[in-house]
Amino acid sequence: MEERTQVLVVGAGLGGLSASLFLAREGVDVLTVERHAGTSVHSRAAGQNWRTMELFHWAGIDREVLEVSPRASQGLRITVATSLAGRVLHRLLEDGSEYDISASTTMPAGMAGQDVVEPILLAHAEKAGARVRFRTELVDLTQDDDGVTATLRHRDSGEETVVRADYVVAADGGRSGIRGRLGIGTTGMDALSHCLGVVFDADLGDRVRPGVTDLFYLQHPDFTAGLVNTDVPNRYVFAPDYFPARGESPADFPHDRLVAMIRSATDLPDLEPRIVWTGSWEVAARLADRFREGRVFLVGDAAKVTPPTGGQGGNTAVGDGADIAWKLAAVLRGDAGPALLDTYEAERRPIARMIIDTSLHNMKQRMHPGLDVSGITPAEDPLNAVLGFRYRSSAVLSEEPDDGARVEDIHAPTGRPGFRAPGLASTLDLLGRSWVLLCAGDGWGPAAAEAGIDCHVVDDQLFAARYGLSTGGASLVRPDGVVAWRAPMSVDDPAGELRRVLDAVLSR
Ligand SMILES: Cc1cc2nc3c(=O)[nH]c(=O)nc-3n(C[C@H](O)[C@H](O)[C@H](O)COP(=O)(O)OP(=O)(O)OC[C@H]3O[C@@H](n4cnc5c(N)ncnc54)[C@H](O)[C@@H]3O)c2cc1C
Repeated sequence: MEERTQVLVVGAGLGGLSASLFLAREGVDVLTVERHAGTSVHSRAAGQNWRTMELFHWAGIDREVLEVSPRASQGLRITVATSLAGRVLHRLLEDGSEYDISASTTMPAGMAGQDVVEPILLAHAEKAGARVRFRTELVDLTQDDDGVTATLRHRDSGEETVVRADYVVAADGGRSGIRGRLGIGTTGMDALSHCLGVVFDADLGDRVRPGVTDLFYLQHPDFTAGLVNTDVPNRYVFAPDYFPARGESPADFPHDRLVAMIRSATDLPDLEPRIVWTGSWEVAARLADRFREGRVFLVGDAAKVTPPTGGQGGNTAVGDGADIAWKLAAVLRGDAGPALLDTYEAERRPIARMIIDTSLHNMKQRMHPGLDVSGITPAEDPLNAVLGFRYRSSAVLSEEPDDGARVEDIHAPTGRPGFRAPGLASTLDLLGRSWVLLCAGDGWGPAAAEAGIDCHVVDDQLFAARYGLSTGGASLVRPDGVVAWRAPMSVDDPAGELRRVLDAVLSR
């Protein structure tokens, strides 16, 4: 018998679980399938930037994420050195508090690993009504004008079931089988480097600063490697590169060799590290040529794979999941026309491009000085990329002239359409649930009521300044906290204006 769902999510990583949570919170019927028996056991993507925490705040999980990342409040230190006690080549960041983000957000950043964040996303997605099935993989997918037919197989029993969905979110990771099945190519650089991931327990004493996330990029004479502490006391991740071009493979790094490398990396020749997990992965920079084929949308690593230098892979997977969720929900509810779904690629693909470019420049600076980045667009300031990003699509009524910039300076947010609405103390909790009109004065209430959207008069000088409004002006903010349109000052026909704007940005 054929099962029905509105949205089938394939993959229960950060991208898939975020999509599931945000969809379920919008009341969408969502079925999520994951081929593994549970969520990720390896901490992999550690760290939630302020934008991710803002999305998590709106999803009601920010506190839990902060509780499982006690290091977050103490900051992040990033050092490029020859070894832990060796020569320091660059100190990229001394302490996370060096970042001044106060003009843009009141949210703190998190530092939790993927292994502890995914269970939180899962629990809340299920609580909101998502059905999640582990050890269940998608093995076939076809689509027509009305929906998608997917064949799922249970990995233990081998039993196959057929699901009919209105839409599919393909969050099936960097080697996305769905992407391949849809014939969507990728462009970029494969095999930039090959890494081992070695999780080990040891007491490194004062080599690593307690309480903070202490990230080292090691350019040791014998190897290049990353080394970072985790949320578990005395547990570290050591990630040395290996070189297939020199005939190396993970098999060439048996236990004793890894122990010797950890001793060299830490300058602790007598250390007895207890290795608890090893794995390997290929660092690549690949962008899918399209993020959509018909009713199927690529999310997270399925849409792009970025080098980990900058820690944006997991964060943008969350951002993709949240983005496609509100758009699918609006279309499924009939609030928006189907063309709203075209804005997913229009908005998220340029962000993926920017993140990949910036991570490649970081990789050259931190790990691989010989990496050729000559043809790559210059890196953006990391704060501006995270909080000052810009969307251009039909879901935004841009103001002319457009200066063409990818980001704006987060120390001086402008409130222009396409940019994040600054999350001030007075506005953060008004945002992130549905469309909202934030007003610098009266006059918009009846128009908003007629349009069926929330309206708040914010009596705060800072709000008016940061949102670029004079008395009587209003800013229309989307469910993802991005400004869709604004009237910098009062208008003659608020109801007519709002109707025209909503019809445009919702593709109605
Ligand atoms: C070792 C390692 C270290 C990393 N370190 C960092 C870091 O420090 N910072 C950072 O930001 N990022 C890091 N990343 C990248 C980060 O982990 C990814 O960007 C992030 O996990 C992407 O999430 P995702 O949901 O798109 O994909 P994934 O987490 O890969 O999830 C995809 C899921 O889909 C499932 N799946 C695949 N095919 C099917 C199918 N047919 N049916 C059902 N299920 C399927 C898979 O089992 C998997 O669970 C690292 C990655 C690795 C491998």
